[in-house]
Amino acid sequence: MPKGVWFLVRTMDEPVKYWQRYQTWNEAEQAWDKRAARLQTEHPLRTFKVNPRLPGVRRHTRKHLTWKTLSYLQRHDYSGKLGRCFWRRPLKHDWGLIRSLASKQLYCSDGDLFFYRFGCLEDVKSRLISPNVLLVIGFSYCHKPFECPAGRFTDACVRDLDSPVCGQCFIGKCVHALPDARVEPLFITTVHYIGEKMIEAHDRWPDREILFLITACELTLEMFGKLGHAVGFQGVGVRLGGQICNTMPAFKASERGLKPGMAVVNDDAQADMMALIRAFADSVVSDSRTVSLASTPPNRRDHIIASDRRG
Ligand code: SF4
Repeated sequence: MPKGVWFLVRTMDEPVKYWQRYQTWNEAEQAWDKRAARLQTEHPLRTFKVNPRLPGVRRHTRKHLTWKTLSYLQRHDYSGKLGRCFWRRPLKHDWGLIRSLASKQLYCSDGDLFFYRFGCLEDVKSRLISPNVLLVIGFSYCHKPFECPAGRFTDACVRDLDSPVCGQCFIGKCVHALPDARVEPLFITTVHYIGEKMIEAHDRWPDREILFLITACELTLEMFGKLGHAVGFQGVGVRLGGQICNTMPAFKASERGLKPGMAVVNDDAQADMMALIRAFADSVVSDSRTVSLASTPPNRRDHIIASDRRG
């Protein structure tokens, strides 16, 4: 299909984002929050009654975590993409891996925010507004509602404005606030999935500076951080609260879609994420040359059910 026709089809099929109905960011956010509060009363979603406030990683799980991570990543690299990424530039990446293994702390943290190659929130904001930046924003499936119309353990999100579930979902709020250009939203199923997508983004847009903003349990952020540090990824991890995975058995089960609990993005972290998205959205001028999955209509995507048995 000629490029122009594809863009026309894409534009016609795209659902209008909630934020585009309003003149200002504040109006849109207040309207979303008010509507979400009303929907919560009319259609309450299943969740825990009290936030259990679990430790991010259990003490015995932290022991030898580096080696557990490497072993897990290598044994479950079914597509071979992570391995190939290392072999493509063995000197650079192996040296990165050695440094990553030797470092006790690969990030600095502030509350639920983990900064990789950044010092603080303001650093990230000031970098996000660069016109050369492409934002990969990823949401762990663990904080999708149980009632999610796209399914929980999938890389899909229909962000349906008529759905009372999507109307209460923080993922829906973020996606409806995102601009259409320079951004790639992802709905993360496994640690390999996000690693592969980050590698893909670097390959597809070699001239862009790729920044990530992803939500995940602390254990996943530690594991992804080691891989990401080795190959030079930069961005922010947002630690989830609620019913998280903080042991290897729970993590491995969740990587197969077995996640009976509900994780959440805590209130302060939600506010920080919205501040980052706002800074980014304010800086983005409409750029029709950026064809990203953000603009791809939900019914055109491959809604794979990811599994760690991919062939
Ligand atoms: S906004 Fe997306 S993730 Fe949230 S409930 Fe709707 S489809 Fe699921």
